[in-house]
Amino acid sequence: MNLIEKIRVCEVGFRDGLQNEKTILSAADKAALIDRCAEAGFPVIEAGSFVSPKAVPQMADTDEVFRLIHKKEGTEYRALIANLKGVVRAAACGCTKVKMNVSASVAHNIANLNCTPAESVARFGECVSAAKESGISISGSISMAFGSPWDKEIPVAVVREIVEAYLRAGITEISLSDASGQANPAQVAKICREMKEAYPEVSWWLHFHNTRGLGLANVLAGMSEGFTQFDAALSGIGGCPFVPGAAGNISTEDLLHMCEEMGVATGIDLDAVLAASRRMTELIGHTADSYVLRAGKASELIREVPVRRK
Ligand code: ZN
Repeated sequence: MNLIEKIRVCEVGFRDGLQNEKTILSAADKAALIDRCAEAGFPVIEAGSFVSPKAVPQMADTDEVFRLIHKKEGTEYRALIANLKGVVRAAACGCTKVKMNVSASVAHNIANLNCTPAESVARFGECVSAAKESGISISGSISMAFGSPWDKEIPVAVVREIVEAYLRAGITEISLSDASGQANPAQVAKICREMKEAYPEVSWWLHFHNTRGLGLANVLAGMSEGFTQFDAALSGIGGCPFVPGAAGNISTEDLLHMCEEMGVATGIDLDAVLAASRRMTELIGHTADSYVLRAGKASELIREVPVRRK
């Protein structure tokens, strides 16, 4: 197998995971666990979102979380925003990286915002200039890039239109997201190849949910096309409020374990992540969809070989 040498992983459990949890964690608990993740070696951590606290009460204290975390040199702490208010909140609490999102589903976008996805991105222009004035870097994400529960299919042309709208707005770091878990490896490889060829200036991220068990297979498909940046969530928490039966993000420890077994470097301490994932499940009060958290690492040998009784 032709494997890449190294990938970068962003821990998104604190945003994508916790926003779907009934239990609301305290800012202190979130910050402490974010600090543990930074120590474990994550290059990027999505620490929360600056969106309406009425719509997403789990993220209402993201400002406080940013004040509490001990920022580690070299670690990027990012937050999701939805509009200009988000940039203002980010600037006020020392957050220096924000991410905007648009759904590639035309049906979804028209129903909610009465405009096409590319028109939504054009409206982000004011956020981009405000962010730049405050010294905040900004990236973009495209959810439902591989399929949506409302559209028969998402034409690649629509995804390309959104990418181009982001580029026109001055955003060159873009994440392709499969929030509804509809992507398959062949499709991922095809779209990744097309995107990389058409927009070589973009720094790409891939974001997969494990709704139908294809999360890590989709990561491998992305890696095979030279994509090197992936989102994942501690213990596989998360979901998607619009998608019935949606599972969480791919679990961070499953992703790191796969990489470790295959010799792909991540720079992240898997044992520290397993401990952090265990802590996450304690805090939310239940386990999620993580295989390695349940079964342990493949390299961990059982001490005694079982002997069958005569
Ligand atoms: Zn997601």
